[in-house]
Amino acid sequence: MSDCIFCKIVNKEIPSEVLYEDDQILAFKDINPVAPVHILVIPKKHIISVNDIIDEDSGVIGNIFIVIKKLALQQGVAETGYRVITNVGRDGGQEVAHLHFHLIGGKELGKKIG
Ligand code: AMP
Ligand code: ZN
Repeated sequence: MSDCIFCKIVNKEIPSEVLYEDDQILAFKDINPVAPVHILVIPKKHIISVNDIIDEDSGVIGNIFIVIKKLALQQGVAETGYRVITNVGRDGGQEVAHLHFHLIGGKELGKKIG
């Protein structure tokens, strides 16, 4: 999608600090981190949110979690713990309409969800 900021990051039209890349997936540092580790893991395909995942996306969605697991190890938070979040739509507080999973860790995150 031409006006999507994360598609622009995928296409390298906007710079980002890439931590992982393959033909389907990109992981990069969040520009406004809320914790010492704050990484966004996205499918390169423009999927708006969890609402828009279709059967044929199951492979890439599964692989995203393998990437998250590896990044957590690499970033040193696998042992201490971390949070994986995907916001959906208005009530979910989704600001960027391209599916992304926040990997957040490196500090005590507390018990609060909402
Ligand atoms: P969400 O509220 O779940 O849609 O999260 C969007 C996230 O994208 C926020 O944490 C932003 O800080 C992050 N973000 C927005 N623009 C960029 C960018 N150009 N590079 C890296 N992260 C970004
Ligand atoms: Zn997009």
